[in-house]
Amino acid sequence: MSSSLLLHGGPILTMDPTNPEVEAIGMANGRIIAVGDLDSVRSELGSKVEEIDLKGRMAIPGFYDAHAHVMGVGYALTQIDVSSAAVDSIEDILVAVKERVDVTEPGKWIIGQGYDQASLAENRHPTREDLDKISPHHPVVLWRSCHHILAANSLALKLAGIDADTPDPDDGTIDRDSHGVPTGVLREAAGNPVSRAIGSPTEDDIAIALDAGGQAFRKYGITSVSEAGIRRPEEFRAYQRLWGQGKLALRTWLMMIIDDTLDELASLGMSSGFGDDWMRIGNAKLFSDGSIGGRTARMSMPYEGEAENVGLYMIPPEAITERVLRAHKAGFQVGIHAIGDAAISSVLDAYEEAQRQMPRKDPRFRIEHCSIIDETIIDRISKLGAIPIPGTTFLHDMRPVYLQNLGEHRVRYAYAMKTFKERGIVTAASSDAPVSSQNPMIGIQTMVTRKDRLGDEIFPEERIRLDDAIAAYTKNGAYASFAEGTKGMLSPGMLADVAIMETNLRDVDPDNLGNVRCDVTIADGAVVYERA
Ligand SMILES: [Zn+2]
Repeated sequence: MSSSLLLHGGPILTMDPTNPEVEAIGMANGRIIAVGDLDSVRSELGSKVEEIDLKGRMAIPGFYDAHAHVMGVGYALTQIDVSSAAVDSIEDILVAVKERVDVTEPGKWIIGQGYDQASLAENRHPTREDLDKISPHHPVVLWRSCHHILAANSLALKLAGIDADTPDPDDGTIDRDSHGVPTGVLREAAGNPVSRAIGSPTEDDIAIALDAGGQAFRKYGITSVSEAGIRRPEEFRAYQRLWGQGKLALRTWLMMIIDDTLDELASLGMSSGFGDDWMRIGNAKLFSDGSIGGRTARMSMPYEGEAENVGLYMIPPEAITERVLRAHKAGFQVGIHAIGDAAISSVLDAYEEAQRQMPRKDPRFRIEHCSIIDETIIDRISKLGAIPIPGTTFLHDMRPVYLQNLGEHRVRYAYAMKTFKERGIVTAASSDAPVSSQNPMIGIQTMVTRKDRLGDEIFPEERIRLDDAIAAYTKNGAYASFAEGTKGMLSPGMLADVAIMETNLRDVDPDNLGNVRCDVTIADGAVVYERA
């Protein structure tokens, strides 16, 4: 391998406002050393130069997915895909599960990921009875796409110790039939006994999943990710193992869950940013509520057609404030999963309180997802300089569910990229994979078109320009993790992370942006993925 790399022959978007598009870019020793016209860049590079002729294809900074679950994507690769991309009905799900049952030793867990009852022909969750028909001897669990709801068969319920006498936990629900017998559908904390019965993956399992997951991100041109939640020491050890071996596929900002893995770090005096350009201790993380699809995101007003249901707080607002203060005082950046407007308001209360008690100059509070907001919330975000981390692919995948559960008026500002930009609010785009596909081009298409997967529009006044959508998926992700000095732009001194797309994105019909593939992914100045 030569020590330097030269790209030329196509549009190179740098995301650097002082020099937005250049003819050539030169990299050496993992850094970008020159950008500009071809002759001058060539003269900056030594004699041993490898060249990539873009032949009209567009090069951009490597994508930064600001909120994703690389481990989760890795696990999903070893589990059954029951997402709406793979199945249309419960009938289809049963066929897929049966195939797996037939080749799996009895007693071993069969796990499926990603169903969405609203997209299934039967328009309901799968149940114990459905699954028992094809799997009496294997415990089966199917996770809904939001990962807050699951469907289990009878054997899985039995292994989890759930029966008609089991009471609902405080922050969860066991769905029951008219006789009070569990149907197999478990919501929020009610699913925890099933997770416990499955058992936790070992450090080896996690390392395998991380590698598989990381490669699955790389093929979309993603070079950086914020991993949305380290809960267990085994997870951190698996990350550290791959990092130590130089095998981490993605530069990773590790969100540390408060009460699980954060506090030990804090007691040692560690805080956000510790690490190197491949792996850093990231922000403190918490979940304040659930999801819109599962009707568990905490809303100020009830869900459509359910006068009593305003969703759930995963932890009460006072406890959110206490935990935010604890992390903030320990020097951590804080990022909290908040989707419903009530949850987002209580997160903002906590952030404002943290700044009152211990003002920090540049806290960059993050609001993970930040879905259902109004003008008051936007004002508060703007005043605080908080960073929404919108799931820009959610609208593409779930627009009908949002409308069905919340009605049109409440989704007016959902992932409102234009409004955010006009208000000077920095937003870092994310997939929340495996909840949605990690393909950033789907998120970019959605930001540019405001259309869902069926082509239906949702508040098109929130459309943004292609360049702004790319910025949301590159430099803004860097900013949200304090890495704007090293990533997200192609300028001298920056890390040499580049995505070469298969074509010039400016020539693509916006409705087709999601289909554009990545040809080459470059990380640390070396080609790490090349499309066959
Ligand atoms: Zn997430």
